Amino acid sequence: MKFVLPVAALSVLFLSACSNSGNTVSNANAEGLITAGKAAAQAATLNDAEVMQLSEKSCAELDGQSKIAVPKSKYALRLARIVKAMPKVVEGVNVNYKVYETKDVNAWAMNNGCVRVYSGLLDMMNDDEVRGVVGHEIGHVALGHSKKSMQVAYAAGTARHVAAVSGNSAVAALSSSDVGAIAEKLINAQFSQAQESEADDYSFDLLTSAKLKREGLITAFEKLAKLGDSNSMLSSHPSSAGRAQHIRDRIAAKK
Ligand SMILES: [Zn+2]
Repeated sequence: MKFVLPVAALSVLFLSACSNSGNTVSNANAEGLITAGKAAAQAATLNDAEVMQLSEKSCAELDGQSKIAVPKSKYALRLARIVKAMPKVVEGVNVNYKVYETKDVNAWAMNNGCVRVYSGLLDMMNDDEVRGVVGHEIGHVALGHSKKSMQVAYAAGTARHVAAVSGNSAVAALSSSDVGAIAEKLINAQFSQAQESEADDYSFDLLTSAKLKREGLITAFEKLAKLGDSNSMLSSHPSSAGRAQHIRDRIAAKK
C-alpha cells in the first residue's frame, strides 16, 4: 500500500490492523499459494538476527520514501516531548522515534527499534493518546507479533523467486523492491484479535509502570472509531468501544 489512502482507510489499519478473515482461495491463485506455502516453511527459519536485519532494511526503505519531520520541526519536537517518559530500550534494542509528515493516520514499530508516528495521527490526538498508541505499537514488537508478521511478509515477498533464496544470506540478497514490498506488508500488518487485545494490555501496563495517564488509550480508541469503525474490516475484531471499555475496567480495578 502506498501512503495515499484516505485517512479513514489507514486509521483502520492501525486501529485493528486485522481484517480479511473472509479471504477465499480461488483456483486462479492456488498455485501461487503453494509457492507461498513453500516460502512460508522457509520463512520459519528466519532467525532473530535476520529479523533484525530485515527490520533495519524495511525501516530504511520506508524512511527513504517518506517526508521525515526534521529534528527542530514542530512535529519532531512534540513527539520527542511525548515519548520522553516512554521506554528508550525495548527487548534490548534502542528505540528510535521519528515523524512522517503525511495527513494519513497511522503509527507502527519494528523490531530494530524503529517507531514511526504520522503527523496525521499527531494532529488528531493529544499527548496521552499518542503515548497510548505508541505503547500499543511497541507491544506488537515486544510480544513477538511483529516478528511473526515479518516472517509471513518475508515469505510472501520472496515467493516468486523462492528457489534463489536460501541460507543466512537470504535477507542480504533481497532487492530494494522486495524490501519495499515486505515493508509495506509489515506496516499494514494484519494482527489477530487476540494480538490486538494483548498489545492494548501491554500499552496499559507500560503506561502504568511509567506512571503515565492511561485514559489516553480510551479516547484514542474513541477517536479512531469515529474514523473507521463502520468499516467491515473491523467486523471480526474487537470493537473500539469494547477496547475502550476494557481499559476503563482495568483503571477501575486498579490493576
Ligand atoms: Zn495493533
